[in-house]
Amino acid sequence: MALDLRQNKYADVPWEEKERLFEEVKSDMRFHHALYGCYECGVCVAACPSARFYDFSPRVIAQAVAREDVDLVYTLMNDSIWDCSQCFSCDRCPRHNSPGMLITIMREVAVRNGLETAREALEGYGRIIYKIMSTGTQVSPDMLQPNAFPDWGPHVHHISENLEVWRRALPPETLHTTETGWAVSDKTIIELYLIWHMTGVMDMIEEVDEGLHMILVDVMEERLEEEGYDVSF
Ligand code: SF4
Ligand code: SF4
Repeated sequence: MALDLRQNKYADVPWEEKERLFEEVKSDMRFHHALYGCYECGVCVAACPSARFYDFSPRVIAQAVAREDVDLVYTLMNDSIWDCSQCFSCDRCPRHNSPGMLITIMREVAVRNGLETAREALEGYGRIIYKIMSTGTQVSPDMLQPNAFPDWGPHVHHISENLEVWRRALPPETLHTTETGWAVSDKTIIELYLIWHMTGVMDMIEEVDEGLHMILVDVMEERLEEEGYDVSF
């Protein structure tokens, strides 16, 4: 469905609440490096892959934020920001804006505040987030299942059916396993767990997926305890 920006779709949400979220966006230390005003030239739209395939525009987001249009920023924070693929092609903006960074900040505010649209947008990513945050590596080869990626076409069948053979052809650092992307040292994984705990990432996860948060906490607390850390999430 096309996004109708002329309507105040979220008129039932108190303006003060929208303003509070906008202030949280503006208080992010990256904000002033992401927006210097907007020429409305559309260079970012021309560079943006998501704008080609979705009813989505980085220019609209930059303009709404630059004009401090609190209602529109709230609408975009709910209905638009999750269409961005975070490629940062829009960084070629002649005004040195980074609409992609604005979107990163808006996403983080949406997640931190547990917006329903953020929960819905991230619903399908629980398995991926679990894999990345529990192992400290990327999506693992055994997640390459054809039914999970129907848009990848028939090639994915060929790869997934012969995954173990493909893995053996890769360098030893990959461990030749299909269960993890590569080897992560104990020191690195402990550091990652502590960073995610101390920087509030775990609190953000809890806002959007309590079940996932509980499973991750179990994994992390046990491992941290083994290493002598007394951390309570
Ligand atoms: S954000 Fe930059 S590239 Fe996009 S419309 Fe504004 S000035 Fe142009
Ligand atoms: S970061 Fe987002 S808004 Fe910027 S070009 Fe990529 S998809 Fe478009």
